[in-house]
Amino acid sequence: MSQPATGQAAAERRAVVRCAVCATPNRIDLAKLSQGPRCAKCHRPILLDRPVKATEADFDQSLQGTTVPVLVDFYADWCGPCHMMAPTLDDFAMRHAGAVLVLKLDTEASPAVASRFGIRGIPTLIVFGEGRERGRHVGVADLKTLETLTGVSAG
Ligand SMILES: [Zn+2]
Repeated sequence: MSQPATGQAAAERRAVVRCAVCATPNRIDLAKLSQGPRCAKCHRPILLDRPVKATEADFDQSLQGTTVPVLVDFYADWCGPCHMMAPTLDDFAMRHAGAVLVLKLDTEASPAVASRFGIRGIPTLIVFGEGRERGRHVGVADLKTLETLTGVSAG
């Protein structure tokens, strides 16, 4: 699994996520996830064992700054299948915390991001690696589908 590292960043497992409380982007060392990372600004816990809400303002930063696969759920509050999908996504995020960063992007609140990735139906799930799209699934997905999409093995 070792990759040729061009700098220390490549060897390190890290994620950039927005604090759910104060919206400050934080860089998280995923190897130290068990120590309970906290926001550098407001010191509230940053919880990665559940999907993290992303917005237009921090989406690119998360994609570029995260060295593990990033799974993004493009959803909307009015979308019934998205609500059906939510428990599966929560379960996936809990099982693979630290190995995959799970983001949720509200396509109504961040239409520019949704349009950039050509989102036509929701839910759409896209997995990114090194900031680039590696695969997508349109429609409700089960746990196995998410694991196959992101390339993680079932725990
Ligand atoms: Zn904060």
